[in-house]
Amino acid sequence: KDYVAGFPKESDMNVKTGSIKLKLAEDESSDSAVLVKNLYLSCDPYMRGRMTNSPVDDPDFSPFTPGSPIVGHGVAENLRNSSKFTLLMCPFPYYTGILGMPGMTAYFGFYQVCSPKKGERVYISAASGAVGQLVGQFAKLMGCYVVGSAGSKEKVELLKSKFGFDDAFNYKEEHDLVAALKRYFPEGIDIYFENVGGKMLDAVLLNMRFHGRIAACGMISQYNLQQPEGIQNITTVVFKRIRLEGFIIFDYFDQYPKFLDFVLPYIREGKIVYVEDITEGLERGPSALIGLFSGRNVGKQVVKVTNE
Ligand code: NDP
Repeated sequence: KDYVAGFPKESDMNVKTGSIKLKLAEDESSDSAVLVKNLYLSCDPYMRGRMTNSPVDDPDFSPFTPGSPIVGHGVAENLRNSSKFTLLMCPFPYYTGILGMPGMTAYFGFYQVCSPKKGERVYISAASGAVGQLVGQFAKLMGCYVVGSAGSKEKVELLKSKFGFDDAFNYKEEHDLVAALKRYFPEGIDIYFENVGGKMLDAVLLNMRFHGRIAACGMISQYNLQQPEGIQNITTVVFKRIRLEGFIIFDYFDQYPKFLDFVLPYIREGKIVYVEDITEGLERGPSALIGLFSGRNVGKQVVKVTNE
């Protein structure tokens, strides 16, 4: 409805129904024209940033226009020409997650930004989410020691039993994050896959090993704050010779085929698994989206559009 300050609320969004006049291509028989029916919509943390009126240089992150539909990724059925644009045979919601933007984020973020080596110690925050669950599995495939953190007992269990993490903990139960990380990484962390920022990043910095790498993927704990928290221990980056590198996955989209070649065989062989949280009904979209910021989602948050 309007730009959002602080934590987003369901009432910040409207679900409207109505009819629209279709604007068909000049040549209706043209093979290039598509008419789509949305099936699955992706809920992603970056959408929150676009609800704030702060102009950015990057068009992918420019503010939404209040009153206009939220744009995002999704899966749609092509009603006009079903043979021309076909998907590879995987469950449809996968294209918003493991085979979509979050999957690519995990893949390029881990293999390229983190420069991992066999046997290294890897820590992942927001580890059970759309991106984190895959980073952990990629790191295990590489022969790393992998620990993740998440915000509930159920998620911690998932990390260990379903995704094969070596260990996991509930960060909400830890009063002293520096000590908690020391417990899981007595010899320090080689790679930190950063999804949350703030106090977690500060605690990680004190536990990093010399020449460690931090892939700054996201900082979800900061997205709803009017004033971002300061990082007290940032000078550690200097004397420990740490490489801290941010990345945006949109820069890698032209490498999608390379990513598919890598990930599809693992999915088919059951060596990589994926957990999704599918909310039914477009009218529940706003609550699904804001649930990302309270950790209500267990796995990749998707909305199934069930309306005819
Ligand atoms: P998730 O599926 O992980 O959902 C978000 C999760 O973040 C929640 O479930 C919750 O899990 C955790 N969370 C929410 N608020 C906080 C908080 N205040 N402190 C700590 N944890 C919190 O989302 P994604 O996997 O899609 O995204 C993960 C991160 O990656 C985000 O920061 C996102 O912005 C970033 N990202 C970056 C991309 C890039 O190109 N650089 C592309 C895609 C995502 P829990 O219960 O564990 O707290």
